[in-house]
Amino acid sequence: MPVRKYTYYDFTLSLCPECLRRVDAKIVFENGNVYMLKRCNEHGNSKVLIADDIEYYKNIRNYNKPSETPYTFNTKTHYGCPYDCGLCPDHEQHSCLTVLEVTDRCNLTCPTCYAGSSPTYGRHRTLEEVKTMLDTIVKNEKEPDVVQISGGEPTIHPQFWDIMDYAKSLPIRHLMLNTNGIKIAKDFEFAKRLKTYAPDFEIYLQFDSFENTVLQELRGADLNDIREQALENLNKLNLSTTLVVTLQKGLNDNEIGKIIDYALKQKCVRGVTLQPTQIAGRLDNFNPETDRMTLTEVRRKIMEQTAIFNPDDLLPVPCNPDALVMGYALKLDGEVFPLTRYINPNDLLDNSKNTIIYEQDEQLHGKMIELFSTGNSVEVAEENLKSIMCCLPNIDAPNLGYDNLFRVIIMQFIDAYNFDVRAIKKSCVHIVDKDNKIIPFETMNLFYRDDKKARLEELRNEIL
Ligand code: SF4
Repeated sequence: MPVRKYTYYDFTLSLCPECLRRVDAKIVFENGNVYMLKRCNEHGNSKVLIADDIEYYKNIRNYNKPSETPYTFNTKTHYGCPYDCGLCPDHEQHSCLTVLEVTDRCNLTCPTCYAGSSPTYGRHRTLEEVKTMLDTIVKNEKEPDVVQISGGEPTIHPQFWDIMDYAKSLPIRHLMLNTNGIKIAKDFEFAKRLKTYAPDFEIYLQFDSFENTVLQELRGADLNDIREQALENLNKLNLSTTLVVTLQKGLNDNEIGKIIDYALKQKCVRGVTLQPTQIAGRLDNFNPETDRMTLTEVRRKIMEQTAIFNPDDLLPVPCNPDALVMGYALKLDGEVFPLTRYINPNDLLDNSKNTIIYEQDEQLHGKMIELFSTGNSVEVAEENLKSIMCCLPNIDAPNLGYDNLFRVIIMQFIDAYNFDVRAIKKSCVHIVDKDNKIIPFETMNLFYRDDKKARLEELRNEIL
């Protein structure tokens, strides 16, 4: 009997990376890897590696929880996913994090930029436009979990402080500033003024590598001194910061451990977010055949390159388990204690019941008792920390603050290569666009930016 060389696991809809038409896709297991097999009538067959860890890939399905939706949807479901974004009622997760691009412009012209920004590209949004976009987020979410002020480079917007003031006046639980750090590095008074937005405010700082050659490839400039100076200023202020690493296979994936170790030593740094490059926007030094990185490869490399995390510490995030991995640790008295392994997975799926069972770990429990002396059992109290992401476990305790927490997140944004309609409906990182729609980050970069919309219209017309 003829036998196929793979095991057929699932079926979904994907996109042809050439023409962006919806195409049938099989998910198959072969030689320990997970592949997507696609066929476009016009552009033929393609085979895309989507994971190098079959068990982890299968386990993702165990982390699904009931979908949380926004209070308002902004478009109708008409053409079918992903041609209706806005969010349409078919979407299966609210905006855990909403990105607000206040400008197209940037003080860099990075060879890798999903938004295609540069000093001359596009324009700044007007203050009125920005306010309306922020109001749209609040209308959809009532109390948005996280809003990230982004660009381009948001700090070059001429009305930057007005934008920050307005955002801070809204019922946003956690505000973030996505920046390349140049302004923070060069102007301590600027950094000091940012600190006035704390608490519940955080810097999302681009931090890709320690190597000049890598920075030149990704950013077109040696930003090492800038990063160092920015972190010096942020450390002085103890202003909560996440380091954000854009990962490219064979370029900086060997620096993951070094960056995490470095981050753990910085007073202001609360974690590292690792983002494999999404194939979108400007990608001057990127070959999709060789440079794509899957989420499971990044997860494996974290474990290979650090001594902190084991497989039970790097788990799928239930709001969007295909795209997000989380790992938590506690920084206590200069020591680092992995934490995620003590989360009861069932509690993680129940929004009302996230707890950490750290009593199971004698060393960690002893440390907590010693530090906080609250008796035989240290209660884990509910504080604002849960608001940082909706799936964050409750990890606060009396005298234990956000600066004791360290998190590693892998955030893999789907592109046309690994697009899976099942997974995209759970996307929870969204962009509010200038037409006041809320678009998943991934589909925004594929279809909904100004230069992509003509193709979207063609595809929609083919469906009608
Ligand atoms: S990605 Fe979500 S919002 Fe966009 S079309 Fe699909 S279900 Fe609708």
